[in-house]
Amino acid sequence: MEYQPGSGARRRARGGDADVRFVSAVYAAFSHARGNGHPPSSPQDLAQGISSNGAIEVFINCCNTGTDRLFVTESWLTLRLPALRDALSDPISEVQAHALRLAVTKARHLGDVITFLKAQPLTWDGYDEMKRDLRAAHDCASMERGLFPWPVIIQALNDEALQRSHDSAAGMQQHLAECRPCPGCGREAADMRWVWVRYSTVRSLRGCVFEGWVVLCRPCGLQVERFGRYTMA
Ligand SMILES: [Zn+2]
Repeated sequence: MEYQPGSGARRRARGGDADVRFVSAVYAAFSHARGNGHPPSSPQDLAQGISSNGAIEVFINCCNTGTDRLFVTESWLTLRLPALRDALSDPISEVQAHALRLAVTKARHLGDVITFLKAQPLTWDGYDEMKRDLRAAHDCASMERGLFPWPVIIQALNDEALQRSHDSAAGMQQHLAECRPCPGCGREAADMRWVWVRYSTVRSLRGCVFEGWVVLCRPCGLQVERFGRYTMA
């Protein structure tokens, strides 16, 4: 089947197979076209008012045309193009055209662009904030579960002799630069509790011991960081 740009050959069939066939046909057609000496498109050709068909066409034609352009393989693109196409209106808007230019010039990941377009109306600042919030929520959830079992941490906290024998100020000094703030409240490393932990576990039938600092945000109930080493017991 020959693909004719702008002919309306694109089918809005929702079936996955139809999408895959569509994308394969489009991509193959453009690989072929370029082989015949067609000049690549410019990102500036992705402009408000062109059809969604045309936008996809230009988008593909911009890919793989230089180190400052998005590099795609057919299989990679085949997985993502149906979602991109579904996120576009017909004709495309300025916001959509701009987002496509960002993807094709590698200023934004294509996955981010697709999510951004699906979440319209939203600014890029809003998108970044949403992503930060999601990441913080994810971080908080895993820190709440804990890097180590909580009873181990609490036991270490209550072991005054163990804590006295390790200088938390020195530990903090050593790792301050690499310690992130608490994702729950923003508390900095120096304002969190540094507790020395020795924890034996079993991995793959061999004993494994962690020894080092676990950084706690006590108001949030999070194990924010650990700095130490694992040794085979
Ligand atoms: Zn906190």
